[in-house]
Amino acid sequence: MAKTKEHINLAFIGHVDHGKSTLVGHLLLKAGAIAEQQLDDGENKFRFVMDKLGEERERGVTIDLAHQKFSTKKYDYTVVDCPGHRDFVKNMITGASQADAGVLVVAADDGVMPQTKEHVFLSKTLGINQLIVAINKIDLVDYDEAKFNELKEEVSALIKTVGFNPANVPFIPVSAFEGDNIKDASPNTSWYKGDTLMQALDNLAAPEKPVSLPLRIPIQDVYSITGVGTVPVGRVETGVMKKGENVIFEPAGASGEVKSIEMHHETFETAEPGDNIGFNVRGVGKNDIRRGDVAGHVDDAPAVAKEFDAQIVVLQHPGVITVGYTPVFHCHTSQVACTFLELTAKLDPATGQVAEENPDFLKTGNAAFVKVKPTKPMVIENAKKIPQMGRFAIRDMGQTVAAGLCIDVTP
Ligand code: GDP
Repeated sequence: MAKTKEHINLAFIGHVDHGKSTLVGHLLLKAGAIAEQQLDDGENKFRFVMDKLGEERERGVTIDLAHQKFSTKKYDYTVVDCPGHRDFVKNMITGASQADAGVLVVAADDGVMPQTKEHVFLSKTLGINQLIVAINKIDLVDYDEAKFNELKEEVSALIKTVGFNPANVPFIPVSAFEGDNIKDASPNTSWYKGDTLMQALDNLAAPEKPVSLPLRIPIQDVYSITGVGTVPVGRVETGVMKKGENVIFEPAGASGEVKSIEMHHETFETAEPGDNIGFNVRGVGKNDIRRGDVAGHVDDAPAVAKEFDAQIVVLQHPGVITVGYTPVFHCHTSQVACTFLELTAKLDPATGQVAEENPDFLKTGNAAFVKVKPTKPMVIENAKKIPQMGRFAIRDMGQTVAAGLCIDVTP
């Protein structure tokens, strides 16, 4: 069987108009994922690709994913949505498009802007640990080395505040529009000796499967299958499950021995992270469990939170968030209304440092520490221990109003 390439999910982040869409468009072209003929003429020719993809995206996830893939000799890549897009944060949190690495785009003629800071903070909060910095529009500053170095210093200082080590981050002078240093080293920047963008992408570390974390399988659906019985279905987020082991579903509390594991109509002895499985557990019937429950080993069960502390970012709220507000939290496959008990502290959105203790309210753009109480039992866990189980999106009025991470659980 042919060896399949490892796969990396990429998020393009940065201030509006700094060239994210143009860079993705040009990258898809250089990687051979799209043809020149698919592009428009004129100033927006590369951006056009992304706009077109945007329209298709509206129609469905499958098309979305199918079109934004490209490959190098080393990896297959998927470009996941940028944080500017409406459902990026929700998708990232629910695991639909968890990014493994971020490409931060900073326009050389504009420098670090408010969204540059926000996106850097947000990506780190959402678990992106690898970063590449593209200093874009280098053509607009006449391919000037001094200007590039000045921006490199400014961006280094910024990413350091949220915990990236600039020494491990490649800084690349690019022109998303002209194509400099996207695939091949550009003669316009002969002073630059580092990797091109595509080389830097190939130097990223492949994501590791979290096999050594506790077993967690958020349940998406529960089926009754003739001859097999009750079959909960879900994706293994962390850990490994073997046939014959004892598992428990929380908050339902039902438990039993794993009788069978199935994936794509084949049976397996074990399941590991990334596997979408159906499995049958002795003694657990269709009415004992439901979507939103999480399966784990009996001796290391998923934590049910009575209350929890969280770090949140308010993305787009038409009013203010105060104590008592009870929107719906989306965490793994569960949706539970949770009440804000306490606004513990407001944070500087760019650095995550405490800016104000016990604020009266939070509004769009604010980052904060808060204490929250689910209105019914839910599994949510400390994101520092199990990142996959600690991320959530807060939805209200049909949109994602905030996103965050659980940082402590009161059982
Ligand atoms: P986004 O909002 O970050 O996705 O930015 P876009 O990709 O839409 O780019 C905004 C504008 O900047 C568009 O008019 C692009 O053509 C232009 N642009 C993007 N990259 C470059 C570049 O490297 N050089 C020049 N001169 N213009 C660029």
